[in-house]
Amino acid sequence: MAEKYDCLIIGAGMSGLAAGIRLGMYGKKVCILEKHTIPGGLNSYYKRKSHLLDVGLHALTNFAPKGTRSGPLPKIFRQLRIPYDTFKLSPQVKSKIVFPEHELTFTNNIDDLISEVHQNFPHETDGFLKLIEKIKSHNALSLSDSYLSAKEVVGEYIKDSILKEMIFTPPLIYGSAWENDMDFSQFVIMFESLYLEGLSRPFGGVRTILSSLEEKIKKLGIEIRYRSGVKRIITQDNKAVGVELLNGEILKTDKILSSAGLPETMNMVKEETPTYLTGGLSFTESILILKDRPKTFGADSTLIFYNNDKIYKYQKPKTLVDFDSAVVCFPNNFEKDDLNEGVVRITNIANFKKWDDLDRKSYLIEKEKVYQNSLKLIKKLYPGFNHEVIYKDVFTPKTVKRFTGHLGGAVYGSPEKKKDGTTAFKDLYICGTDQGFLGIVGSMLSGISMANLHVLMGNK
Ligand SMILES: Cc1cc2nc3c(=O)[nH]c(=O)nc-3n(C[C@H](O)[C@H](O)[C@H](O)COP(=O)(O)OP(=O)(O)OC[C@H]3O[C@@H](n4cnc5c(N)ncnc54)[C@H](O)[C@@H]3O)c2cc1C
Repeated sequence: MAEKYDCLIIGAGMSGLAAGIRLGMYGKKVCILEKHTIPGGLNSYYKRKSHLLDVGLHALTNFAPKGTRSGPLPKIFRQLRIPYDTFKLSPQVKSKIVFPEHELTFTNNIDDLISEVHQNFPHETDGFLKLIEKIKSHNALSLSDSYLSAKEVVGEYIKDSILKEMIFTPPLIYGSAWENDMDFSQFVIMFESLYLEGLSRPFGGVRTILSSLEEKIKKLGIEIRYRSGVKRIITQDNKAVGVELLNGEILKTDKILSSAGLPETMNMVKEETPTYLTGGLSFTESILILKDRPKTFGADSTLIFYNNDKIYKYQKPKTLVDFDSAVVCFPNNFEKDDLNEGVVRITNIANFKKWDDLDRKSYLIEKEKVYQNSLKLIKKLYPGFNHEVIYKDVFTPKTVKRFTGHLGGAVYGSPEKKKDGTTAFKDLYICGTDQGFLGIVGSMLSGISMANLHVLMGNK
């Protein structure tokens, strides 16, 4: 007879792990099912030639200094009963948005960005301050709001098109499933998490966060099964009742929380389901391990949001990769540098289909071109860069698809979000990326809030 759970969670990414902990804390019989051998999903890690590399982590958003009581990060610590110090956070130094004729620096203190806007776009200072007030007063967590164009709302406050493009660059590349715009609530979440709260890095990288979550899971006795891909979600009378794993095993359950994505989850239900759009935004990333630290060639920022045009094209490129824009991350440049070597990560917007269509030989050639373009960009930004790269790796949209199952390698999932987590099937809920909260902090909060709403509160 198949075992029966209170809740099965599909995926051991940040949202699935957080949901599992929340349910385990309340004595629910839970099992987290992950098709890979390690946790983390889009934010995982791997080892190559003695180098431990993070997959997704540039920076943790929503920084809150120790002792802060309100905001997303303190809420995660409270709801999961994890002590603040466990994440060993080191704040960013400063980050830059670089356009052809303008640069804006921001830090974890919004006053720095206000004064940068004032210096570079004096006529926009008042509008920018009013925009901040609008953002602070907006309830971005409403589960019932429908899509509202952020560019339209922000356009009421910021008239200078270049400033507008610059302000939008980090929120778009760090969290939009929509091309060239985003839902206003999502923009508010990203604006607060990047500019009002700020960035930090856990000492030891993403493994520090994952080990603290895994430790909690172990302590609570929550079952977590790796190499356990879900092949099928079993439904009866329009209600989810269990899953079939890839090895044929059947598990019965009262409820399912799926972090696999909205279209991906619906594909697991064999009955007729509504169809959802697959996201079109994916990335390549070059990871360079350097002999020297970035400061030695003049790189003293944490992140650089680079754009070689007046307009920021946040859209699926027609070519394999869009080299006109990039995020350059220097993990050494947080207040404390815990790395044994110099590291640079360069992320570009890429086209999944183009990468997927390549044969093996061309795929490797194109990966090398991505790497060469990354070197070119570093050299352009820092002419003193001396190319002493001791190890390099490049991942592509195909890698994202292979390791997370997200269709189209869509890092931010489908443009259709299920803010209340419900699906066409009773007791089958979406958490994580396609519920609408992104990034490490956002997806953990999503897992927590969907577990609270649909399992702990009984979904009455
Ligand atoms: C290159 C890159 C850089 C990023 N940088 C940052 C950053 O600096 N800061 C930040 O906060 N965020 C960053 N992110 C985003 C962040 O990683 C994600 O938003 C977040 O991790 C999403 O978590 P999730 O739980 O919603 O989904 P996922 O991480 O996608 O987790 C879903 C899990 O479900 C599993 N799964 C899927 N299908 C099945 C199945 N059928 N059966 C069993 N298991 C299944 C997958 O293997 C995966 O482990 C970055 C992402 C990428 C790719």
